[in-house]
Amino acid sequence: MSKIAFIGLGNMGAPMAANLVKAGHAVMGFDLLEAQRAAAALTGVTIAGAARQAVAGADAVLTMLPAGRHVIASWTEFLDAAPKGSLVIDCSTIDVDSAKRAHEAGAAAGALTLDAPVSGGVGGASAGTLTFMCGGSTEAFARAKPILENMGKRIVHCGGPGAGQAAKICNNMILGATMIATCEAFALAEKLGLSARALFEVASTSSGQSWSLTSYCPVPGPVPASPANRDYKPGFAASLMLKDLRLAQEAATSVGAVTPLGAEAAQLYALFVAAGHGGDDFSGVINFLRGTKIPAPN
Ligand code: NAD
Repeated sequence: MSKIAFIGLGNMGAPMAANLVKAGHAVMGFDLLEAQRAAAALTGVTIAGAARQAVAGADAVLTMLPAGRHVIASWTEFLDAAPKGSLVIDCSTIDVDSAKRAHEAGAAAGALTLDAPVSGGVGGASAGTLTFMCGGSTEAFARAKPILENMGKRIVHCGGPGAGQAAKICNNMILGATMIATCEAFALAEKLGLSARALFEVASTSSGQSWSLTSYCPVPGPVPASPANRDYKPGFAASLMLKDLRLAQEAATSVGAVTPLGAEAAQLYALFVAAGHGGDDFSGVINFLRGTKIPAPN
């Protein structure tokens, strides 16, 4: 059993902290919002009055926060209150530059640090089946792995500081672009009089095959578990896809990488979200492409 501090008890953080409690760890948590603190307390998390109080005496600290600025602010606030040599892991999805800055601040405070963003969503967080993409030293990864295994089923060491965030945004840039391509193909098929079932049967066993098609098909029917079968309730919200695509574009700009399809995908999801569909599943962008969910003109 370890003493673990958990900062950020939102949609993802709360079920992740609950799984650490279930695994037998003593978890002390903190969130800025009272409602999140109260909900986490019901799952066995001891609630601290502040992040600094939560991390005092902790073997490991985890953060699960909205964006890079929250992570930098939070780590800056608590790092000197954490025991020297403690392990500090950020599981948020943030920009690569902020992730690297957080590693530097952690090293300066004598902590072992890891960026470990996740995929799997709220369902995976609750079921303890997340994938963790980790960036940091071999030593930090080795110490973090048994803790992360309480919350996930795949724990991958991607490289040095920031490599976890890089893996996450590269993966999601592929996902955003392939989802749009898949949606375009189904929308075109409809106009050509080709049934969705026939397109699925061909493409799912041909060179058009992808996860977006075979696991998350954007039309109802072929993949019964996909959000298309429940009016595009997420799933993976379009606003979160847009966040990840923007992070990918920021990273591409900072290193001079050429990502025209990633840029197009970010623009299309920005339009979809601006039209009021940020809470829809990201596969709902097919309705936008069909022209059935375009914003009304002013
Ligand atoms: P959320 O908004 O539900 O939770 C974030 C929590 O952090 C909030 O409760 C907020 O009050 C708290 N917070 C903010 N600043 C704080 C601070 N300084 N100290 C303490 N608490 C603070 O967001 P979420 O859906 O749980 O996502 C968290 C991270 O996980 C994000 O980076 C997101 O991109 C990533 N992520 C989310 C999903 C998903 O499906 N929700 C999937 C993969 C990755």
